[in-house]
Amino acid sequence: MNLPTFKYHPDPIATGSIKPSDDKCECCGQQRGYIYTGPVYCVEELSECICPWCIADGSAHTKFDAEFTDSALIGSYHQPQQVSPAVVEEVAFRTPGFSGWQQERWLTCCRDATAFVGRAGHAELKSRFPEAAEFIRNYCKMGERWPQFYQALSSEGSPTAYVFRCLHCGTHVGYTDCD
Ligand SMILES: [Zn+2]
Ligand SMILES: [Zn+2]
Repeated sequence: MNLPTFKYHPDPIATGSIKPSDDKCECCGQQRGYIYTGPVYCVEELSECICPWCIADGSAHTKFDAEFTDSALIGSYHQPQQVSPAVVEEVAFRTPGFSGWQQERWLTCCRDATAFVGRAGHAELKSRFPEAAEFIRNYCKMGERWPQFYQALSSEGSPTAYVFRCLHCGTHVGYTDCD
């Protein structure tokens, strides 16, 4: 069974937000073979019990009034949210989120939400996402402390970087946090 397509989170298995599981989905009641492992913002406790299909078709949002990314935190650091309410809804209500050390943000570019690529450390930023490293460096304004911080970034540990790709201009952007 193919997973649903998520425009803003194209490979949720690679990012760890969806994993194979025999658990039943709390929303549709079916064993679909996959379960969502990321954050769920709602009144009920819904940790690791929603299937990707119920995220994609909006039914988990409707049934539990759940958000998978805090809609208030969709936007770039530099500007206020510059995306339409429809985009905010697609990211917050119908896209798997991801687990950060701190409250997650979802970056935007070209007046649209970006696609979440995953966590990255120094090695990944240097080899695959140098633009994202530059974006983060410009944002952090750490001056001469940057090289040490950059070296310390780890894809599995803390601090870590979260990398996103713009669906329009193709550039990679990102931000960092730590535990
Ligand atoms: Zn389901
Ligand atoms: Zn862009």
